[in-house]
Amino acid sequence: MGAIAVDRQVNLYGMDVAELEALVAELGEPRYRARQMMQWLYGHGAVDLDRMTNLPKAFRKKLAEKAFIGRMSIADVQVSRDGTRKYLLRTLDGDAVEAVLIPEGDRRTACLSSQIGCGIGCAFCATALMGLTRNLTAGEICGQLAAIQEDTGQRVTNVVMMGMGEPLANYKNVMQALRLLNDPDGFGIGARRLTISTAGLVPGIRRLAEEDLQVVLAISLHAATDEKRDQLVPINRHYPIAQLLDACREYVQRTRRRVTFEYVLLRGVNDGTDDARILAGKLRGLLCHVNLIPFNPVPETGFAPPDAAAVERFRQELAGRGIQATVRRPRGVDIDAACGQLRRKSMR
Ligand code: SAH
Repeated sequence: MGAIAVDRQVNLYGMDVAELEALVAELGEPRYRARQMMQWLYGHGAVDLDRMTNLPKAFRKKLAEKAFIGRMSIADVQVSRDGTRKYLLRTLDGDAVEAVLIPEGDRRTACLSSQIGCGIGCAFCATALMGLTRNLTAGEICGQLAAIQEDTGQRVTNVVMMGMGEPLANYKNVMQALRLLNDPDGFGIGARRLTISTAGLVPGIRRLAEEDLQVVLAISLHAATDEKRDQLVPINRHYPIAQLLDACREYVQRTRRRVTFEYVLLRGVNDGTDDARILAGKLRGLLCHVNLIPFNPVPETGFAPPDAAAVERFRQELAGRGIQATVRRPRGVDIDAACGQLRRKSMR
């Protein structure tokens, strides 16, 4: 179960419909109560059992003896000039994770964390510097979204699992969270508006292709040759580019969905036209889109952002070879919005 017990009470927050049904049955109530509870927990963001007014009082009382609603709280919010909001959220056990809200027109995209820290060790990433503490529960993943919606009073329209952690290394909890985000009685966000971003865990990608919930798959590629990718994204030594791209091709075949490739541009490291040419060659024929991300500086890593001219050359080189690419505009640069930066400061 994706819940943490406190004083032998169970935490309702993060339970899916099957878990709620089991609890409801144990308390001798009809099964449909589980769906009602879901609507309160995720749809209305209720943090108090007494707000669940369509549940009988006697049931609420029994429930209160057995269970509580434990959600993460906001420890800090930073607001960027461009409207990006970066949250530091406190877990029930006193640790901290980050989440970001990126408003853009009528889209409000939440960037959520899947783990406390990360064990993948990408060379340019702030989260990598802290190592992995633990997986987040489904309730802690959904709780980030709930906290953002409560703070802004507005619904989030899109979710990207691009905060701290590697989502496919916490597969079960991340999938449970995504189902709660997608469920009409949960947060009600369409699957096409949910994105999982991975450093390239091939078995996880294959597993994801088999799910009935088809979310958008984003791959953090960042290099066109194994020689470079081994250095930047060390998991490449286990799952080299050819294997990774095979898994992506299978994913596209199976789901008929376009894959996104993320490519962080690092000055003088992977931003040359040769890199673009090799990349275009490897992606040819794959239904995909490339997101070019100018490096968001993390001083400890020793990397530097690319020149604007290099970014444009890279994009044109891809476009000229038939690979669609867009440059992701940096957001929240004045508030340490690169993943991991805020928690690192807070825990120092
Ligand atoms: N572990 C997952 C998801 C979290 S990172 C993954 O690797 O995809 C989300 C994205 O942000 C990844 O593409 C990651 O490589 C990128 N990223 C990390 N640090 C960055 C930085 N300092 N500047 C720009 N992008 C960064």
